[in-house]
Order: sequence, then structure tokens, then C-alpha cells
Amino acid sequence: MSEKTIFQRIIDREIPSQSVFEDELCYAFRDINPQAPTHILIVPKKPIPRLAEANLMEQSLLGHLLLTAARIARSEKIERGYRVVINNGADGGETVPHLHVHLLAGRPLGWPPG
Ligand code: 5GP
Repeated sequence: MSEKTIFQRIIDREIPSQSVFEDELCYAFRDINPQAPTHILIVPKKPIPRLAEANLMEQSLLGHLLLTAARIARSEKIERGYRVVINNGADGGETVPHLHVHLLAGRPLGWPPG
């Protein structure tokens, strides 16, 4: 069996995190190195490595992650403006090979992103 990712260890509570939301499909917690005043990671409990490796079976799970981002945005009161990001692959900025959605807000977010 392949080694657990750092996010799997966070989900399994082997590593502490600042919890924001949890249900049977995903766990959301604050990023350890926030890139905005609000920076939350929404991580599926199923360890899909990255978006490129998700398949049709995971279609509803992917939708759930986005709806969870919107739900958390409401509870964080950041509906005025926020950004949802998935980094895919090394050139896309992915550093943890366990699919995750970034939810960023609390400062003007420039476009195009760096
Ligand atoms: P990526 O670059 O893969 O899209 O995003 C990985 C994110 O995970 C980064 O923003 C990084 O700061 C965050 N991260 C990495 N290790 C930990 C950790 O142990 N705890 C938390 N809360 N965030 C982490």
C-alpha cells in the first residue's frame, strides 16, 4: 500500500489542523501557510491524487467539493468575493498529491494569477 499523503494524515487526525467543516465525503481546514486572510483547503476523504486522475465515478464527489466551498464561503461571510483554485501537476503549483480545493478570500485577488 502506498504511503499516506500529509492530507490523509490530517484527515485521520494523525497531524493537527484547524478544522472548518467535515462530512462523510470531505474535510476542510485552514492552510498552514495562508496566501490570503481566509485560506481554506477542502480535501476529499477519498485519496484521489489530482484532478487529472479523477474519473466519472467521482463526478458527484467533485461537485460536492465545489458546493462545500460555497457553503464554507457563506459561513465564513466572504460571499463578497472569493476564489476557488485547484492546482494540478508540478507546473500547476501542486505540492501535495491528494486532490484539494483552495478557498481564498479577504484581499483583492489579482488576475491573472501568478
Ligand atoms: P498545493 O500547492 O498542492 O495546491 O497546495 C498544498 C497546500 O497545502 C499549500 O497551500 C500548503 O500551505 C498546504 N499545506 C501543506 N502542508 C500542510 C499541513 O501540514 N497543514 C496544513 N494545514 N496545510 C498544509
